[in-house]
Amino acid sequence: MPSSESYLVVGGCGFLGRHIVEQLLARGETQVSVFDIVQRHFDSNVNFYIGDISKPEDVENALTKSGATAVIHTASPAHNLGRQLYELVNVTGTRTLLDACLPSPTVKKFVYTSSGGVIFNGDQDVVCADERLRYPERALDAYNETKVAAEKMVIAANGEQLLTCAIRPAGIFGEGDRQMINAFYEVVKNNQTKFQIGYNDNLADFTYVGNVAHAHLLAVDKLGTTYPYSSFRDPLDSIELSTG
Ligand code: NAD
Repeated sequence: MPSSESYLVVGGCGFLGRHIVEQLLARGETQVSVFDIVQRHFDSNVNFYIGDISKPEDVENALTKSGATAVIHTASPAHNLGRQLYELVNVTGTRTLLDACLPSPTVKKFVYTSSGGVIFNGDQDVVCADERLRYPERALDAYNETKVAAEKMVIAANGEQLLTCAIRPAGIFGEGDRQMINAFYEVVKNNQTKFQIGYNDNLADFTYVGNVAHAHLLAVDKLGTTYPYSSFRDPLDSIELSTG
């Protein structure tokens, strides 16, 4: 059912961001805007603001003109592009967005796309983890290190002015993917399929992009609604969280 929110999907021309935009439109939302550094889609019923999230003037322009009440921040560089770019977009960019959203008279909700990688250090397996698991002392790589920094800023910003949350998807697959399929293709092309690490019993999570997008819509819908803590017992309370 459509809401009265005005949505700004940051990174809305990307793989996940585009699915979020399409799901918002499919449920009848009429106030959907996109802020991205490039424009890859052209919908007559979506306002596109082209700019860089690390530039305060670009962010201010998109927030003011869109009149956003709910920001969904999916923007990030892809893997293997270098620390400097991750620092700029994930850390400075997320800070810039938050600094603009916090005093904004309209924005009340902020959902951030983090990554499951923020709790994985590359050595120890992560089993049955939820948000209670601590960050590892050493991040897996610069990408995940900056996702941790961004996630912490987003959670710290949560308060009366702005309701925030972070979602940690694992690997995402589905229509429009430009990263995972390419990586698999490169492995096959380079004839690297004969190598095996471990005993073929390693597990990894992958989630369909439509489900990840849906999770973002649920998060933005539920932010700020009263949660029945007193009567709710988390089934995960009985599970011992472990790494290793
Ligand atoms: P994507 O590269 O397809 O989309 C990211 C979008 O952000 C792009 O459209 C890009 O142009 C935009 N962007 C990058 N830098 C920007 C900047 N400075 N200013 C404005 N826009 C900028 O990536 P995706 O796979 O859709 O990932 C979306 C989010 O999900 C990211 O935050 C990523 O860290 C997270 N994530 C992705 C996966 C995955 O498997 N794809 C897994 C876990 C988490």
